[in-house]
Amino acid sequence: MMGYDLDLFVIGAGSGGVRAARFAAGFGAKVAVAESRYLGGTCVNVGCVPKKLLVYAARFRDDFADAAGFGWRLGEAEFDWESLIANKDKEIHRLNGIYRQLLNDSGVTVVDGHARLLDAHTVEVAGHRYTAEHILIATGGWPVLPDIPGKEYAISSNEAFFLPELPRRVLVVGGGYIAVEFASIFHGLGAETRLLYRRDLFLKGFDLGVREHVRDELGKRGLALEFKVEIRQIAKQADGSLLATLSDGRQLETDCVFFATGRKPMIEGLGLEHTEVRLDDQGYIEVDADFRTAEPSIFAIGDVIGRVQLTPMALAEGMAVARQLYRPEQYQRLDYEHIPTAVFCLPNIATVGLSEQEAKARGHRLHLYEARLRPMKMTLAGRDERMLFKLVVDADSDRVLGCHLVGPDAGEIIQGMAIALRMGATKAQFDRTIGIHPTAAEEFVTLRTVSREA
Ligand code: FAD
Repeated sequence: MMGYDLDLFVIGAGSGGVRAARFAAGFGAKVAVAESRYLGGTCVNVGCVPKKLLVYAARFRDDFADAAGFGWRLGEAEFDWESLIANKDKEIHRLNGIYRQLLNDSGVTVVDGHARLLDAHTVEVAGHRYTAEHILIATGGWPVLPDIPGKEYAISSNEAFFLPELPRRVLVVGGGYIAVEFASIFHGLGAETRLLYRRDLFLKGFDLGVREHVRDELGKRGLALEFKVEIRQIAKQADGSLLATLSDGRQLETDCVFFATGRKPMIEGLGLEHTEVRLDDQGYIEVDADFRTAEPSIFAIGDVIGRVQLTPMALAEGMAVARQLYRPEQYQRLDYEHIPTAVFCLPNIATVGLSEQEAKARGHRLHLYEARLRPMKMTLAGRDERMLFKLVVDADSDRVLGCHLVGPDAGEIIQGMAIALRMGATKAQFDRTIGIHPTAAEEFVTLRTVSREA
């Protein structure tokens, strides 16, 4: 340790920082982690976890409606936002405690407060200085709102989880997964919801067939979707409601404008100027393939490096840094191919591997297998909802390059597919796999006919 107080000082106790700190301490290093806001970071407090709880709440609307077809007679359902938020807060508080316990049990010192770098080996938190042989920056990201008149009346995901009441009317602005998920949440809970996006179709980066299918399914559910339009100005009216002026000149009255228009790396007040750490052209901390910054003693991981901004990647990057420093014989560079991901809009989307468009751009000759099916549950429920199954297969090697699903519990199904794709499974191996009947997922092993070649 060469005269330092610590082996490793981690800044930020979110997904990546906690994982790195615990693993490093488990490998015998002397570790401290600083956290300025909430243990568990974005994911636990204002991200994945509370979002999924709200999605569960929103799903009951369909369940209640579908129940009648199965013989259930229910009274009129009533939804209470305050109870949902109070119960969610209780659960998050419990998780915050578990994170503190996990860190304490691993021998990691938790330092509450904002951390600032003083030099390449020194961090200051609440007036105390800590020296460390290595420092890990895992400070995550923060929502960005467009700079328009009246933006102070709008909210981001940070505030959405704590609204005192469910707005009667909501405008959700954005085309990424957070916008689409929150539009489903507000709509499912009963708010009159409209999603506005400035480009021609949301969910850029996902397979085009998936994006179009989701647009149609959300539309069928009565969620208003408008593309090629954005908000230019927001004004507060005498009765407390908001008036949004759109780029096409229309004015929409609403009770809530929710911007999900991107996130920026959290580097404010971090003291990077006292080090050699550099930023890339997007403003994220620049690191090499081993998460080293331009300052040899400082590493960075997670959303602050802006690679794949998902919790499982921050976890994997945190483990990679701990191994590299304290178990180098176990260290392997991270592979960013085949990262499965889900969007928890209603219906869910999940995907692993390449989209048809990515596979074409990489020069593959493709066999595409597609099916649009009505899930069995929807028959008695009487709802016209279709699932989309899509396999992108390399025509020359028969390897399955991409697997895409839209429908109930898509994420639960695709997680298993991700193992097959990581192992390099071929379409013939999918075909030899026995299905589980009756499930929706069995469709992936019974897609026999090529739908299209590309
Ligand atoms: P964070 O988890 O953001 O942690 C950073 C921590 O550092 C924070 O606690 C912050 O307070 C602290 N900090 C910052 N600066 C300082 C400082 N100077 N001193 C001390 N502490 C500091 N990912 C998924 O995989 N699945 C999902 O379903 C999903 N849903 C999401 C939904 C929403 C609404 C959002 C916003 C994100 C979602 N994500 C999801 C993304 C996921 O939350 C992030 O990728 C993940 O949290 C990144 O982890 P991190 O460790 O890099 O940063």
